[in-house]
Amino acid sequence: MKAVALTVAGSDSGGGAGIQADLKTFAAHGVYGASVLTLVTAQNTRGVAASHALPPELVVAQLQAVLDDFPVAVVKVGALGTAPVVRAVADVLRPTGLPLILDPVMFAKGGAALLDSDAVTALRTELLPLACLVTPNLPEAEALLGLAPGELHGKTGLEALRDRLREALPFPLLLKGGHGAGETVEDELWLPNAAPLVLTAPRRHTRHTHGTGCTLSSAVAANLALGHALPEAVRHAHTYVQAALGHAPGLGSGHGPLEHFP
Ligand code: PLP
Repeated sequence: MKAVALTVAGSDSGGGAGIQADLKTFAAHGVYGASVLTLVTAQNTRGVAASHALPPELVVAQLQAVLDDFPVAVVKVGALGTAPVVRAVADVLRPTGLPLILDPVMFAKGGAALLDSDAVTALRTELLPLACLVTPNLPEAEALLGLAPGELHGKTGLEALRDRLREALPFPLLLKGGHGAGETVEDELWLPNAAPLVLTAPRRHTRHTHGTGCTLSSAVAANLALGHALPEAVRHAHTYVQAALGHAPGLGSGHGPLEHFP
């Protein structure tokens, strides 16, 4: 049977990030993609002009419609917008026991908020415990850990995070290093009771990186739906993102999208 993955995320009218990037990534992996919209952005490569969060009842109705009828294997959760939506999504997904990849999206590239500041606590307490993998970038990891912006930057900051992780974060985490410094970007997969898996790539000096985080988390979800174990799924997803970045079509005058292909 065809593998089915579900993305719960926001819409990017420019098609580079959010639900559109997720569905393209699923399709490129031969995985059937279902989608539950949480918020709608009016957006192009230059930024977000407007954003509107959907009511939690409508998000729940979409979730129930999909889960009632499709053999969903994996759920990827991206931008959620508001605390009531975070709680509603957690309440529906909790009893399903489905593997959940949580991309704790907080801001679009230009700085527009995709998660209310009062929703971070709900994300931490309600959704993190359900996740089989959380994929923050450095600023998102800082917010989830209650640290000040910039505290994780640099080697000292990362060492401090590792210590805190061992103590305070029992959930599997893929820490994305793209916001760090240096010519090598290191993404670190932290699983409980295992040595970290470090995935490296040369830093790309390009504007065309819009949707990189969405693409990585949905590629992990697609690989899980195809039956790969988590470390393997993360490795494959990292390779997929590097190829998608390398073939970016160069669209738009701002931060352009990636290319998605099998
Ligand atoms: N989700 C939506 C709806 C967005 O508009 C964005 C960024 O603009 C993101 C997620 C995060 O994008 P990225 O993968 O570039 O972090």
